[in-house]
This record gives sequence, structure tokens and C-alpha cells, in this order.
Amino acid sequence: MKKHNFYAGPSILTPYTIQKTADAVLNFADMDLSLLEISHRSKQFQAVMDEAQALTKELLQLPDDYHVLFLGGGASMQFCMVPFNLLNKKAAYINTGTWATNAIKEAKIFGEVDVLASSEDTKFNYIPKNFEIPADADYFHFTSNNTIYGTEIRHDFDSPVPVVCDMSSDIFSRVFDPTKYGVIYAGAQKNLAPAGVTIVIVKESLLGHVNREIPTMLDYRTHIKKGSMFNTPPVLPIYSALMTLRYYKEQGGVKEMERRDLEKAAILYDEIDRNKLFRGTVAEEDRSIMNVCFVMNPDYAELEKDFMEFATEQGIVGIKGHRSVGGFRASLYNALPKESVEVLVKAMKDFEAKH
Ligand SMILES: *Cc1c(COP(=O)(O)O)cnc(C)c1O
Repeated sequence: MKKHNFYAGPSILTPYTIQKTADAVLNFADMDLSLLEISHRSKQFQAVMDEAQALTKELLQLPDDYHVLFLGGGASMQFCMVPFNLLNKKAAYINTGTWATNAIKEAKIFGEVDVLASSEDTKFNYIPKNFEIPADADYFHFTSNNTIYGTEIRHDFDSPVPVVCDMSSDIFSRVFDPTKYGVIYAGAQKNLAPAGVTIVIVKESLLGHVNREIPTMLDYRTHIKKGSMFNTPPVLPIYSALMTLRYYKEQGGVKEMERRDLEKAAILYDEIDRNKLFRGTVAEEDRSIMNVCFVMNPDYAELEKDFMEFATEQGIVGIKGHRSVGGFRASLYNALPKESVEVLVKAMKDFEAKH
């Protein structure tokens, strides 16, 4: 049976990405060799890296002084790399969930951290809005999409200081103004490629201003200077990322992805709001279009397990909520077809009809 893959990460990839990656594992660039067994310094792989960087720049419309790096270590590595490279005295963060909390913890190793606002008191079910970014901070950090809690910041900040953003779970799903950002990072395994690579976008002029020695591998300048090939890069996820980027471009770019994502999310939220069995878990104006969190209405709480089984019977996988929220989470990443959302909505309607 066809599966409808709502996993939060690693998560669904486009069939194009999967097929092209499989092909390259068997025979890469007509070399009669696998992508897995050739030098990353070969001209064939260099072409992959070059195109992946160029396409990222093109799709996100990055200005010339922004560099695109494909690094190991996951988004979690950026929680320390960012302050290592940028934090002199004080950094400002907002705490909107588990990932933001982890980023704050790392930054505290390097200096003072001003947590401007937090929604921790209500289990991160909204985005705090009443805060001012201090002009004396070295940078302001936020998480654009809170993968676990299903809230999202879908606008850019006008900030007196450089903005750093963890876009792990919503990059390529919203057209944004890159000039409003200094550093953007995103683990690949939500909207781009298999786990193992993190896309890091850095504005070069922000570097070199901290008074500390930075280990070579953790210094953004190392990777900029070496074209993201200082050491062996994660070649397989980079290749897959390139395939996804080509697909995005061919489909009409980020603008078209955003249109589709908004449409998919509206279909599901409309059903959650209509269906008497379910309700959403976060403030309506802060709802994520990538990760849709919902629970049974209290009157029907005992049906949770039954619905999970019912959905599984329809080929729906990956909708179990994160253990810190419970209930359900349906992740609607770019690669998820609208048809899968319609199957989930139909399952919700059919289940309602039975009760
Ligand atoms: C998944 C995720 C992370 C963690 O990514 P790793 O690559 O596993 O380190 C960080 N931030 C956000 C917003 C995420 O969704």
C-alpha cells in the first residue's frame, strides 16, 4: 500500500531526489563508479558542490557577500558554532521551543545571553511578540519553525543587530528577504536531503570580530576559504540536496513551494477546526505550515489510540506527536504531496462519522 509519510525528520523526500540519489549510488556521473567510492576532489563531485551552492543562492536570492556552506555536525553543531564565531559580549535569543532552548544553552558558554522572551510557561504553544532587540547585542537569534510544538515565525525581523536564524524545518518554504539575516542554518533532513549535512549561509563581513581563538573546523572562515571542502564533506546528502534544489527550481522555486505549503496546511487546519473530535494545540496566528500539531478534544480523549490505528490502516505514517506534546503531529514538508493531506483529512472525517 502507498504510504503517506508525515514524519517530522528525517522525513519525506521528493521521488525525484530518491531516484536520482539511488542512481548516483550505483553509477555517478557516468563514471561507472558509485558516488560513495570516489574522491570528493574529483571534478565530477566539485561540479555537484558548485551547483548546489549556486542553486541555493539563486533559489534564496542571496546577495554576493553571502556564502553557502554544507557542513557536518547537524543543526545542533551550529548552536555552538554561531556563538563561537559571533558572540563577543552579549547575544539576544528568544526561546520558542526545545531547539531554541538548546541553542541558548550553548551560547551561554561563550558570553552573556539575553533571553528576550519565552513561551516556555505555556509549553511553547505560541510565539512571544512583545520584545525589543537590544542594539548592544552581537546578534539576535531565533528559530523560525518550532518543529516539535508546531509554531512558526513567518516574517523577517527589522533588527538593529545581525539576525541569526535556525531554519532547519522551514527553509525553502517561505520567500524571505535574505538581507535581513546574517547567518541562516538548517539541518538537511527536514526539507532538503538525508541527514548528515547542514546548510549554513553566512554573511562574510560578520566574521573576524570576536576576541577568541576558534578551532579550525569550527571557524566559518575556514569553510568559506576552502569552498566548503576543507575536509571531506558529506557527499551523499550534498548530492541529494542538489537533486532537491533542482526539483524546487524546476517546479517554480520557493514561491511555488510556499503556495503549495500554504494550501496543504490550510486543508488540514480547516479540518482540525471543523471536526468535533480534534483541536489544534497552538495559537491560531502562530500555526506552523510545516508541522501541524493537534490532539483529541477532551471529550474524545480515549479515542486517540483508535484514531492512530485507523490512520495506520489508510497508509498514514509518522503522525504520532512528539513525546513532549502528545497527540498528533503531521509534518507537511515540501516533498509531501497534497494528496497525502487529503488522505489524512478523509481519515479524520471517516473516523468522526464512526463516533
Ligand atoms: C531537527 C532540528 C534541529 C536539530 O537538527 P540536527 O541536525 O539533528 O542537529 C534543530 N533545530 C530545528 C528547528 C530542528 O527542526
